[in-house]
Amino acid sequence: MKKIDRFCKAVQIDTSWPKDAHPGDKNAEEPLNRFQEFLLSQYPVFSRIAEHWILSPYGMIFRWPGSSNGGKPVLFAAHYDVVPVEEEKWTAAPYDAERKDAYIYGRGTIDMKSILISLMEAAEDAAAKGFVPQHDVYFAFGGDEERAGLYGAVEMAAWFKERSIHFSWVFDEGTMVMLNQISWIDKPLALLSIEEKGFMSVELSVDQAPGHASRPPTEQAAAILAKALIRVSKKPFPFRLTPTVETFFKKIGALSSGPIGFFLRHAKLFSPLLFMVMKKNPNMASLLHTTLAMTQLEGSKADNVMPSEVKAVFNLRLLDPWTVESAMEYIRKTINDKRVKLRLSNLSTNPVPANPEHAKEKGPGYAVVKDAVEKVFPGVPVLPFLMVATTDSRHYKDISDGIFRFCPQVLTPEELALVHGHDERISVENLNHAFTFYSILIGAL
Ligand SMILES: [Zn+2]
Repeated sequence: MKKIDRFCKAVQIDTSWPKDAHPGDKNAEEPLNRFQEFLLSQYPVFSRIAEHWILSPYGMIFRWPGSSNGGKPVLFAAHYDVVPVEEEKWTAAPYDAERKDAYIYGRGTIDMKSILISLMEAAEDAAAKGFVPQHDVYFAFGGDEERAGLYGAVEMAAWFKERSIHFSWVFDEGTMVMLNQISWIDKPLALLSIEEKGFMSVELSVDQAPGHASRPPTEQAAAILAKALIRVSKKPFPFRLTPTVETFFKKIGALSSGPIGFFLRHAKLFSPLLFMVMKKNPNMASLLHTTLAMTQLEGSKADNVMPSEVKAVFNLRLLDPWTVESAMEYIRKTINDKRVKLRLSNLSTNPVPANPEHAKEKGPGYAVVKDAVEKVFPGVPVLPFLMVATTDSRHYKDISDGIFRFCPQVLTPEELALVHGHDERISVENLNHAFTFYSILIGAL
C-alpha cells in the first residue's frame, strides 16, 4: 500500500468523540482502539524496533531506542482524535477521504492525522533503512486532545514522570508556514511556536429572586452583570513584549523596508507606540497581552419570567507571566462587586513560557528543527512565534527543556479556517511536505 492510501485509511477511522459519551463508553472508545491497532499493523518495522505501551484508548507511547546510553531523549507528541462534524454542511463525506483535484477531504486531514501519519511513515522508512537515532526518541499519541487531553497527554506525562524520563525537547502540532500573515510582507513565513498561552474560562453569575416580569426588582441581576462586563471591557490586560514576540517583530522588521522595518527592529524601544498601533489589530494584539473574550450570556428562558440567575462566560488566553490565579484576582478587583460570583473552569491551564534560549534562536533542538524547516521550505524565513491556542504539549512542560509547536505545511488563511470547520481538506503537496520534514528531522536525531 502507498503512503497516501494509508493516510486515507487513517482518515476513514472516525475518531471523533460522540457528544454524550463518557470515558469507559465502549462504543466511543472502539474507534480509538482501532486507530492504535491500525498504527501497529501498518508500520510493522517501526513497531518491531520500537517498544510500545498502550496506556488506554486515549494514549499510546513508542520508544525508539537510541544508540548511545545517556543523553536526553526527544518526544514527538500528536493526537489521533478529531472534532465532530456537522455533516449536512459538508460537500464531501467527512470520513471517506475522498480525493478531489489535488486535495484529500476529511475530518482530521489537517488537524492532525496528516502530521501523525507523516511522522509514522518517516519513522517506518528510516527504521527499514536501518537508521538508529543517537538518543531515545519517544512518540506520545493522545486520543482526547480535543477534549483537553485529561485522559491522554496528562496520563502519558505522569507515565514519563514516574520513570524519571526528561526530554531535551518536545515537538507537537502548532503554527505553520503561513501565507499573507502580515499584510505588507508578500512572502510565506514559517512560524515556529516556542511559547504557548494559557487557557482559562470563568463563569460570572448574579442571583436574584425569581418572579413575574410585571413586578421587577429595583436593581436587576442583568444590570449588575452588565456593569461588571463593562468594567472588565474598560480595563483590558496590560500589554507586554515577551522575548519570543520581540524576536518575532525583529525578524519581521528585517524583512520589511522603510520606517516600518526600523520601527519593528527596535520594537522594545518603541514598545508604547507599538502597543498603541497593534491594539487595533486582533491578530497582533493576541501576541501582546492576555486576551479576554466574552463568549456566553444567559438569562431567563422566557420573555416574561425574571431569571433566578444571570450568567456570562469569559474565555481568556493568558500571556506569561499571568497565571490562572493572578488573572482571576485581576478580574475580581476590576469588577469589585461581591454580588457577582466568579467560578473557574477546571480546564484552565497556565501559560508555557519559552526556553529563554529558544527566544534567541538557539538552545535544545532549535538548530535541527530550523534546519529541517529550511530544507523543506527553501527561502522561507523561520520565525520564533507564540502559540495563542493550546496543544497537548503543555502537559509535558515540567518534563522537558523546551517545546516546539509546528505543522510542516503551507496553509492560506482560507485553508486554516477549515480546521474544525466544514470540508476540511489537505493538499497532496502538504502531505508530502510533512513526510519530507519528518524524514529530515528524524535523520538528524
Ligand atoms: Zn490538533
